[in-house]
Amino acid sequence: MPELPEVETVRRGLITSLVGQKIAGVEVLRPQSIGFPTPADFEQSLLGHSVLDVSRRGKYLLIHLDQGAHLGVHLRMSGRLLVTWTDQPLGPHVRVRILLEQEQELRFEDMRVFGRLWYVPRGEALEKVITGLQHLGPEPLDNFSGKDLFDRLKKRTQPIKTALLDQSVVAGIGNIYADESLFGAKINPLRPAQSLTLDELDTLTTVIQSTLSQAIALGGSTLRDYTDIRGVNGNYQEEAWVYARKGAPCRVCGTTVARIRLAGRSTCFCPYCQPLKGVEYSQ
Ligand SMILES: [Zn+2]
Repeated sequence: MPELPEVETVRRGLITSLVGQKIAGVEVLRPQSIGFPTPADFEQSLLGHSVLDVSRRGKYLLIHLDQGAHLGVHLRMSGRLLVTWTDQPLGPHVRVRILLEQEQELRFEDMRVFGRLWYVPRGEALEKVITGLQHLGPEPLDNFSGKDLFDRLKKRTQPIKTALLDQSVVAGIGNIYADESLFGAKINPLRPAQSLTLDELDTLTTVIQSTLSQAIALGGSTLRDYTDIRGVNGNYQEEAWVYARKGAPCRVCGTTVARIRLAGRSTCFCPYCQPLKGVEYSQ
């Protein structure tokens, strides 16, 4: 699933290739991919708009259009946005085509069809149409502190890993960067969120920021279907400390990286670097 660095990489690509373009045609191939309004209205409403800017909130892409309208995109599990030539063959998972000028188009591909596109008309609040925006916590790369995290976690008994995946605690972090950040901060993923001290959360916050920044610099991670808008893979996963490294030696101490299930998600960590008092893990 694309997380903040992957979505940010897509955003940067769209800034280069989409801003200034005018929408010359829209074709919805899979009605389910449109969150708002109806697919027919989506096609009609987008037509003729120019793209002014592209921003990001958590894992949501917000494409700012002229006349005060917006196009929102959430890639969810397997969504991809590609800017390509209109004569490129359509793959089996193309759900929406947004035709631009000069034989180019923005394609939304989505194998699993969990991703969504929303057209937000002028005068309508983004949060009203894209309701997931209402519940987002702070942006981790934007004035985010250990104290923010401390205040949000002090009543939570769930494991810290599970809390980090909750988009209302902090926006944009998913399985990869939760595991990587907890490793960097030497915090065991099973620790109850409320047991972490302010010092530990200061460290975790700093590590989250450096991990996300490094991943953005590397063009994100390639996992399942994620690529940037030209179909190029990211490189972060080659640098990963623990994510998807079950059974491999820890890059710091050589201990075998362990994997457990936590809230239904695969969780990798080093039992030596991220100890949990009184708990032994079978490997
Ligand atoms: Zn280790």
